[in-house]
Amino acid sequence: MQFDQAGAQALMEITSRPELVFVRGQGSWLEDHQGKRYLDFMQGWAVNCLGHCPQPVVEAITRQASTLLNPSPAFYNQPSMDLARRLTQASCFDRVFFANSGAEANEGAIKLARKWGQLKRGGAYKIITFEHSFHGRTLATMSASGKPGWDTIFAPQVDGFPKAKLNDLDSVRALIDDQTVAIMLEPVQGESGVIPVTAEFMRELRELTHANNMLLIVDEVQTGVGRTGAMFAYQHFGVEPDIMTLAKGIGGGVPLAALCAREEVSVFKHGDQGGTYNGNPLMAAAGLAVFDTIAAPGFLDSVNARAEQLSKGLIRLSDKHGMEGERGLGMLRALKLGRDIGPALVKAAINRAPEGLLLNAPRPNLLRFMPALNVSADEIELMLSWLDELIAQAD
Ligand SMILES: *Cc1c(COP(=O)(O)O)cnc(C)c1O
Repeated sequence: MQFDQAGAQALMEITSRPELVFVRGQGSWLEDHQGKRYLDFMQGWAVNCLGHCPQPVVEAITRQASTLLNPSPAFYNQPSMDLARRLTQASCFDRVFFANSGAEANEGAIKLARKWGQLKRGGAYKIITFEHSFHGRTLATMSASGKPGWDTIFAPQVDGFPKAKLNDLDSVRALIDDQTVAIMLEPVQGESGVIPVTAEFMRELRELTHANNMLLIVDEVQTGVGRTGAMFAYQHFGVEPDIMTLAKGIGGGVPLAALCAREEVSVFKHGDQGGTYNGNPLMAAAGLAVFDTIAAPGFLDSVNARAEQLSKGLIRLSDKHGMEGERGLGMLRALKLGRDIGPALVKAAINRAPEGLLLNAPRPNLLRFMPALNVSADEIELMLSWLDELIAQAD
């Protein structure tokens, strides 16, 4: 099959893509338009938590598609109620609003915190976020993000997101004033290069927000739903946040997101929040299949076993090639290359023959690994052996 130049030309140019069209996927493997296979350790940026086309999700979608697609969010549907119950029972939250993307869930979290500030805190609206954080691409979530340069691309910004330094409590304290309503953070900063918060910092933030009558918001769009080896990453730290957002893995490959909040904080009035597709039963059915797979006895144990295998393998590679080690939490890990060969490695990996390898370099000196949570031990060893060769060739 030829590459479809005219088709590519019809898509708006927003990023540089290789001239490949992926036509099918199964588990940790993708296949392109020329029949070449790729071992996928990106999985759509941690979206395909059960790999490509996982059977439980495919079956759930197929069943739901021929039963009920869209009664409209003006009415209840059972899959969305079932999934909301699963999420509230597995967490410290009481209420769920479903959305379609991480940015939209975070936008909802920001609105909810501001609403709570209006009702309970005399109009306090500022939300302290962190340098290098990533919360999405709407105007408000770009403003909340700490990505360098994002304050000017689409100026003027949405006001009210002062930036502190991760794992530095004094930098947070220095920003608090009587207009501060919340602190929002990723338990592991994903896009900035897999930087986990310390347990101490997370606990200090919880104490600080309690002491100042402020909300603690965790953006678990990348870390939630099993990615870090716990159902939700905040559970590693022994704290209970007030608001949590989920997306990426929760849908296992389909657009699904969730805004979760404690009862006292669930203060939207009718009309404050909504969306044509919120709680769509087709997406909720996919979410249920994902959740039940991950919550099944033993699943997270095997995620942790595979994560340890990956971590050890990355340390071996780091030692062998004079790199700077690895870091991460569960199945969200990074190899610190110690030199700016990340982009070259990504390119060499995809061009590898006869089979390619899909890797991600969020920074030039770093590779990030987000395999399927059910990746096999053999697939991890295969990836490590290919990466070993690719590094040797790149140096
Ligand atoms: C990916 C991501 C987002 C944005 O999610 P979209 O679905 O792309 O809007 C927000 N926060 C974090 C932590 C993310 O990793």
